[in-house]
Amino acid sequence: MPRPWHPSPILQASFVLHGAAACGLLAAPGLWPWAVGVLGANHALLTLAGLLPRCALLGPTLTRLPAAAVARRQVALTLDDGPDPEVTPRVLDCLDAAGVRASFFCIGRRARAHPALCREIVARGHRVENHGDAHSWAFATFGPGRMRADIAAAQDTLAQITGQPPRFFRATAGLRNPFLEPVLASLDLSLAAWTRRAYDTRQGEPEQVLARLERGLGPGDILLLHDGNAARTGNGQAVLLPVLPRLLQQLAARQLHPVTLQESCP
Ligand SMILES: [Zn+2]
Repeated sequence: MPRPWHPSPILQASFVLHGAAACGLLAAPGLWPWAVGVLGANHALLTLAGLLPRCALLGPTLTRLPAAAVARRQVALTLDDGPDPEVTPRVLDCLDAAGVRASFFCIGRRARAHPALCREIVARGHRVENHGDAHSWAFATFGPGRMRADIAAAQDTLAQITGQPPRFFRATAGLRNPFLEPVLASLDLSLAAWTRRAYDTRQGEPEQVLARLERGLGPGDILLLHDGNAARTGNGQAVLLPVLPRLLQQLAARQLHPVTLQESCP
């Protein structure tokens, strides 16, 4: 079922600004340089908001777990860009060994290529969430129709394969535009960003990846890691594999309890 979409204050102000500019130009066409300047600044601000993954100006954006989860010292591990036939099974084993559940933001077309792996993620007690169908780097330039088609294709794929419709969506690299929130509302999805990320698609040095995640690590954090598209260590393995057991040890030492986004966000 779709949920209602309420334009954020900055979008409401943008609508008013565009209306005022149109009326102003009808009354005084000579003011067009002013109108172009004001609307250009407005569009620049909206574009900037879309390029900042943790910015909530365009709509609700989950960057930390809710207060109740913080009080329970919960954190969320989120793993993007899978499923990956080489890395994901080993990640599942590692999570199982620690008794930890995570949220896997899967790419629709990869899920279709590895449906059994997707089912395995859910069978082991984790959640599969929506990371788009094509994982296009041009996602933030899509219009509403193309954006909806991409997200809906992944949603259908993941729901059919796992039997559980994803509840959260994450855009490619977190980049989006003002069309995203109404599209997500129409699909009853919520945008999930992160508190801290490992840059583990570019950084293959485990110590540096761990240091990024552990700096300031605390209750309520949403950690972004990658089981797909992972950077490689010096000996050629996905950097997540040596990082994950050490990260789980750190979480346990700090008495932080990893949960899925679904579990911590009622
Ligand atoms: Zn991604």
